[in-house]
Amino acid sequence: MLRENLASVERKIADACKRSGRSRDEVTLIAVSKTKPVEMISEVYGAGVRDFGENKPQEIRDKQPQLAEDIRWHMIGHLQRNKIKYIIDKVCMIHSVDSVRLAQAIDEAAGKLGIVMPVLIEVNVAGEESKDGIRPEEAEQFVREISVFPNIHVEGLMTIAPFTENPEENRQYFRKLSKLCVDIRQKNIDNVSMCSLSMGMTGDYEVAIEEGATMVRVGTGIFGERYYPRAEADGRVEV
Ligand SMILES: *Cc1c(COP(=O)(O)O)cnc(C)c1O
Repeated sequence: MLRENLASVERKIADACKRSGRSRDEVTLIAVSKTKPVEMISEVYGAGVRDFGENKPQEIRDKQPQLAEDIRWHMIGHLQRNKIKYIIDKVCMIHSVDSVRLAQAIDEAAGKLGIVMPVLIEVNVAGEESKDGIRPEEAEQFVREISVFPNIHVEGLMTIAPFTENPEENRQYFRKLSKLCVDIRQKNIDNVSMCSLSMGMTGDYEVAIEEGATMVRVGTGIFGERYYPRAEADGRVEV
């Protein structure tokens, strides 16, 4: 079942790339394995996926040692400063930086290990009250502020679009995030590259790719439903 799900997602990604004149290797599929057991992750790994996303530091801490070493783990969920220690030596990227204090704490933890941690800025592009993330108008100033930390590297933007049955409704938000990324890139801020756009989930990843996503985060589409209230776990609003 997982292999079939994955093949179907892969096909849709390839089609979306083709429609938008992009090359398939411009888009990284991140399989979002939160709440799912290591056996299922192994199966998806066996089918060729190397990028996995989790939204809870404890899950990365617990799962990472049980799975292949060449998995690239992505921290995609809200991160509290006191949990950074669980993941700092295990993840390849933190997608959810939305405060200077968090950026500073990641910088300190990375510095102690002698590494530079790639990070994305989480932007609340639809202005939903329930969501984390900084406001689009504040993004450039925020990037400037955290660009001074030597042990993090700002690589782009991330957003969690509203929950909707109709992915076309989220096209405007993906387009806005993409434009914001270009605008900030053009400022040529030191220690900032702004080449990565993490946007699109099971319901809307094809539209996100059409609007320039370089990373899509697909959970349900690969692993099937999660058995807990989605709004609580994802910070998403049910409509
Ligand atoms: C759960 C989650 C996803 C994946 O959601 P699906 O709708 O199951 O694809 C993507 N991004 C974040 C930040 C998440 O928490």
